[in-house]
Amino acid sequence: MDLNSGINNLPKTSPITIRRFKSIGINIFWDLLNYFPFRYEDYSLISTINRLQPGETITIRGKILDLKNVYTKHGLKIQKVVIEDPTGKIEVVWYNQPYLIRLFKTGDLLSVAGTVQQFGDKLSIQPYDYQLGQYQIHTGRLVPVYPEKLGLSTKVIREKMFWLLNNINLLPDSLPEKIINFNHLTNLPFAYKNIHFPENKTLAVEARNRLAFDELFLVQLSAALLKQTRNKQKVNYQLLIDAENRRKLDSFIAHLPFQLTDSQQQVVNEINSDLILRKPMNRFLQGDVGSGKTVVATIACYLTHLNHYQSLFMVPTEILAHQHYQTISKLLKPYNIKVGLFTSSKKIKQYDLIIGTHALLNEKLLFKKVGLVIIDEQHRFGVSQRAKLRDKGINPHLLTMTATPIPRTVALTLFGELDMSIIDKMPPGRIPIKTFFVNNNKRNDCYHWINNEIKNKKIQVFIVCPLIEESEHETMKSVKAVVNEYENLKNNVFKQYRVGLIHGKLKSKEKEQIMTDFNQKKYDILIATPVVEVGIDIGNATIMIIEGAERYGLAQLHQLRGRVGRSDKQSYCFLFTEKSEEKIITRLRFFTQTYSGQKLAEYDFMHRGPGTIFGIKQHGFINLKIASLADLTLIKKTRSAVDYFINHYKINSYPQLKSSLKEMQTANIINN
Ligand code: ADP
Ligand code: MG
Repeated sequence: MDLNSGINNLPKTSPITIRRFKSIGINIFWDLLNYFPFRYEDYSLISTINRLQPGETITIRGKILDLKNVYTKHGLKIQKVVIEDPTGKIEVVWYNQPYLIRLFKTGDLLSVAGTVQQFGDKLSIQPYDYQLGQYQIHTGRLVPVYPEKLGLSTKVIREKMFWLLNNINLLPDSLPEKIINFNHLTNLPFAYKNIHFPENKTLAVEARNRLAFDELFLVQLSAALLKQTRNKQKVNYQLLIDAENRRKLDSFIAHLPFQLTDSQQQVVNEINSDLILRKPMNRFLQGDVGSGKTVVATIACYLTHLNHYQSLFMVPTEILAHQHYQTISKLLKPYNIKVGLFTSSKKIKQYDLIIGTHALLNEKLLFKKVGLVIIDEQHRFGVSQRAKLRDKGINPHLLTMTATPIPRTVALTLFGELDMSIIDKMPPGRIPIKTFFVNNNKRNDCYHWINNEIKNKKIQVFIVCPLIEESEHETMKSVKAVVNEYENLKNNVFKQYRVGLIHGKLKSKEKEQIMTDFNQKKYDILIATPVVEVGIDIGNATIMIIEGAERYGLAQLHQLRGRVGRSDKQSYCFLFTEKSEEKIITRLRFFTQTYSGQKLAEYDFMHRGPGTIFGIKQHGFINLKIASLADLTLIKKTRSAVDYFINHYKINSYPQLKSSLKEMQTANIINN
């Protein structure tokens, strides 16, 4: 048996346990080996019974002298077990685990890890863990604690892991020796042994460092190799900026309804210099909500059209597709460019520019001559999506855009294969959105004020309700909650106004209709789940209420806030929360004073960890098992190791590394 053997080969393991392993993605021994503990209990101090001190946490070992169940008058079942070693004896007391008395018998060798307690002049042990026989798995050492999922207890995982490490040959090291030595890494088999059953804390740290190194190394190696491949690829259609196209482009920009900011112009230049190359552009454009990414993308589409090629513009939702269609059509109207909207009900005809959701990629219809693909409001265009395009014979230039602020180091690590652009200035004349934190007891005052605003200024209001259940999609429970809130506000607080409702369970036609109606001022107030998060542009909406604000990452809140403040009117954002914890309030107050998406993302990154920046569960992110994206030192170290590797070695000579790489990329494709 080797690391590729199925998990069902574990000896003395019940089918239920096997099933549980499989349901958390542990299918082969290798998967089990890579299921890491998140901390250790320190039971390494082994004491003889005569030397026990009250308060200390120790492991004792001895023979069972006596054992019994005792029933108290309050219905409590107590298990009293007396253990004896050559130096003395002591009582160990469990509560409500009567099966233990069946499990143990007198004369058995038992070791117990626990805390010594004193009652009068008598010592006893409050046990945390025990072990029959002589192996040290659960006692007498640093004991690994694993994440418990779907009924798998840490104790079971520990036992199976112990067996595995003692019965399988670990693979030899996968990295070149030079890299290992230069970075002072422990060797891989040693790291695996010590991440699970460390001899001491120092070794546990060394093991973790080694495995974290490998993880970040792989992530960055993958990106570096992708970039290398891309440099060798050729686009189907290279674009040309000759004198005539240059003149037309300049004229297009000069005739926009506004002047491009320096930031936008800079990005346009970066994109243009990519577009005229043979190798495919793979550019990632970051820019705060409202920074004006759409027009930048539209300019690229225009250039593509000047070269007689097609552009595809993909967005995450149909609502957004609809809106982009209108904005972009308007910008392109004077230039006789056929702009088409693709929705689930409306199929593709030949257009110069096609706007739609990602469903575009599934279209059987062969696009004619796709020179450029734009992906809006997406963190990353997945390997799998690119493969889909290539399957259709399309290898276009690619521009990915996001308003999600990502700390630079994170971006460089995760998106190393992409070239980065950033729009870091807002168009002029924007009025900062006044943002307030609203205590629960101020809620009615706030409603009252909003009532007057609508009456006097005829503005419109968004009210965003959180998803009740954390899930990537809206569940019925969440929808019910928003429907209730809608009924309540419509019939009570805002009964003199027209209130609309939008949520993810509606058909896309219905959603579109509601957004159109809201845009045409048929509603004063729109109650929504976070479906409105991305991209929606309603100039007359100047008030945004966010319910359950504490549930969102700050970057996400920032995107929600960005739905208002899109005109020259003063806009407002109110954060409602029913929570009163200091930490939550401090965080939300920070939000009310901060208008830079980047700063907000970094705040969450520092305070809540990398995972929280991107919302509940975002596509395209690598699930790091052991390394942290906040570990800047290690990120730097691994990046130079990758550079060294790329320059001195061939990946093909490192089959083990190659297969880990593949494994990681496959996992990543599934994530996408
Ligand atoms: P985002 O980057 O969030 O996608 P949009 O592209 O939707 O932002 O732009 C937001 C608004 O700003 C739009 O109404 C757009 O017309 C306007 N806008 C974009 N660039 C400029 C500019 N340079 N000057 C003034 N307004 C601009
Ligand atoms: Mg946008």
